[in-house]
Amino acid sequence: MQCQVSYSFVLRKNMSIITATLGYPRIGKRREVKKALESFWRNELPSEELLQIVQEVEEASWTKQAETGIEQIGIGDATLYDQILDWSVRLGLIPARFQQFSGKERYFAMARGKDGVPALEMTKWFDTNYHYLVPEITADITPIADFSDFITVVKRSITHLGKKAVPIIISPLTLLQLSRLEGVVFEDILNQLLPLYCELLKELKALGVKTVQIHDPILVLSNASHLKAHFQKVYTEFGQTGLNIHLVTYFDDLGDTYPWVMELPVNTISLDFTRGNNLELLQKYGFPSDKILGAGVIDGRNIWCIRPQTVISLLETIQTVTNNLLIQPSSSLQFVPYDAALEVKLPEPLHNVLSFAEQKLEEVVISGKTLTGENTQTELALIEQKWDEFAQFSPVNQEIKTKLENLTPGDFQRSLSYTSRIAQQISLPTLPTTTIGSFPQTSEVRKLRSQYKRGDISPEDYQKAMEAEIAKCIKIQEEIGLDVLVHGEFERTDMVEYFGQQLDGFAFTQQGWVQSYGSRYVRPPIIFGDVVRTAPMTVQEYQFAQSLTEKPVKGMLTGPVTILNWSFPRSDISRQEQAYQIAIAIQEEVTDLEKAGAKMIQVDEPAFREGLPLKQEKWSDYLSWAVDAFRLATASVQPQTQIHTHMCYSEFGDIIQDIERLDADVISIENSRSNNRTLEEVAEGGYSHQIGNGVYDIHSPVIPTVEQLTQQLKTGISTLPLEQIWVNPDCGLKTRRWEEVIPSLKNMVEATRKVREEI
Ligand code: GLN
Ligand code: ZN
Repeated sequence: MQCQVSYSFVLRKNMSIITATLGYPRIGKRREVKKALESFWRNELPSEELLQIVQEVEEASWTKQAETGIEQIGIGDATLYDQILDWSVRLGLIPARFQQFSGKERYFAMARGKDGVPALEMTKWFDTNYHYLVPEITADITPIADFSDFITVVKRSITHLGKKAVPIIISPLTLLQLSRLEGVVFEDILNQLLPLYCELLKELKALGVKTVQIHDPILVLSNASHLKAHFQKVYTEFGQTGLNIHLVTYFDDLGDTYPWVMELPVNTISLDFTRGNNLELLQKYGFPSDKILGAGVIDGRNIWCIRPQTVISLLETIQTVTNNLLIQPSSSLQFVPYDAALEVKLPEPLHNVLSFAEQKLEEVVISGKTLTGENTQTELALIEQKWDEFAQFSPVNQEIKTKLENLTPGDFQRSLSYTSRIAQQISLPTLPTTTIGSFPQTSEVRKLRSQYKRGDISPEDYQKAMEAEIAKCIKIQEEIGLDVLVHGEFERTDMVEYFGQQLDGFAFTQQGWVQSYGSRYVRPPIIFGDVVRTAPMTVQEYQFAQSLTEKPVKGMLTGPVTILNWSFPRSDISRQEQAYQIAIAIQEEVTDLEKAGAKMIQVDEPAFREGLPLKQEKWSDYLSWAVDAFRLATASVQPQTQIHTHMCYSEFGDIIQDIERLDADVISIENSRSNNRTLEEVAEGGYSHQIGNGVYDIHSPVIPTVEQLTQQLKTGISTLPLEQIWVNPDCGLKTRRWEEVIPSLKNMVEATRKVREEI
């Protein structure tokens, strides 16, 4: 069935339609930058060659954008590690501990730490899975600018792209708002940075630059209005440099800042029309006739082709308000992989509706052409046709649909309350000791998995080898004296991929890399259809492990919210619906594990917190369905079955009630890195279920001593009631070596024994 749509636009008077981008992937189509960086770090590649490779990748991206027909190309966001770090360095925001170094050595020390000097803190860039290095500004820092590297790039881009090159600059307001300020006042430091920025703008103008993009995404955060006066001051000064100022926002709508942002003395304002309700704000308040609207209509963060009708009618609505438009992606394209055309192993109908950076450029261009009245009927109809073919390839699964429609409150509710059921669950020593699930993934284990994947070893041999790993792991845990054991997760490359590969509705790319941080790139699975479990996924490993020991072994699963948050979701149904579908699949697995005899089942949700929306007023909606998805996955078990969960990097203070509402019997958390802050938050929030506050940091190779661990346990006991406390490391042990893991856990068990004796 093919829909007949007509896209006819009458060219309007005084209309200006220009295509633009706000940033591009910079890791290299074949991950060239990662490879170069890592060889540079191993001293196998000279610094000039590293820079050469980064430059080639950057210039290839410029060429691609220009050839596709982008008229204003955002430039200057290529980076050796992180563009926020680049701006910190350019502005001389160098904390004292890095002053001993210089040049590249200092840059990478700030990024990764060096010789006992800890790196800058790293955190998520808004609600993306990209992580930036948090600028640290202390009273002893005096900003001094050195923009030479940026100026060089701008010059190069002008040679390459001429007038199309538009430098991307991170606004001082966003930079400061995301910084850690210690002993300094926001306004003071802003006053020091502002002249440096103005100098830069003047320098750019002297080079012949006409327009600059100033990226100010903090405008979409709920509390941005308190910075109004600062925004007015900064943009007034920027405007006085004589450059065209393009203020760029993304990731959500402007909310209550909309009316005053429109009044800022800038030439262009970019809004994200794929998230939040900028469209309503635009219709309600209008748009200044003397400004250009950067219409972010092509989603820079999903990997799906446009739905032509939706985008064109969105643009049509926008045009009823203003006719001076940039047509562009909603954000930088760094959040999507390079090129869907490389994914030749995917089924054709799916492959055809994927859109990565290169395809999104084409979508920008075709949308622009449509608006200016060019005939794009054929191209648009072709996209519609591909969607029709995809719909046939991936039809609605009636069974899961009906299941979701018929859910009742009982499906989300354990049959007994925590206090009533806990007495019926397995009895364990005071301060039970356990781990988070994974044990070292040695090179032998990784080799086995890849041999199996390539078909070099038979399924039987693979299974035997995996069983040998499990057996070794169980034996070691018994020798260490842990109370609750795990099978070790040797069969899993990744806690989401492992499940995605066994569930219907997930696809995996070959080259779909996106930067997580520095040289770490990830390939998120794609959820493309209804998620259905077709067979047990973990029961065999659980059963084998349990058959080897009298001690209880925990079943080990990844939770629905984490699976969703670490994948590229579908765009045709809500995230809630996708989470519920996954929850049902996990629930079926939970049921099978229970039938197989599991007394304890852990459902990990490390990505639970990171799914929180940017605007606080939207938190309750997310928390409501995310908690319910976890409950749906776990509530069906008998009262005797103990449900565990695990979360890392979590600050709980503000969502502790929601964590309690998960209704897990036991939660294990990251705590030692936050210096017991998480533990205190949990106690202050009145959390009443059992909790394993991670007693040592698994991210460090250092082996914690019995004394340190005893101290850590005592802090736990003095903060929370004894019956609530479990003893475990911070997180899974897969990245550590056995030589580190065994003594660390032995010390943990020894410390527990000591503390048990004392109480
Ligand atoms: N069970 C997982 C493991 O131990 C949990 C990993 C995580 O929290 N990210 O590896
Ligand atoms: Zn963890």
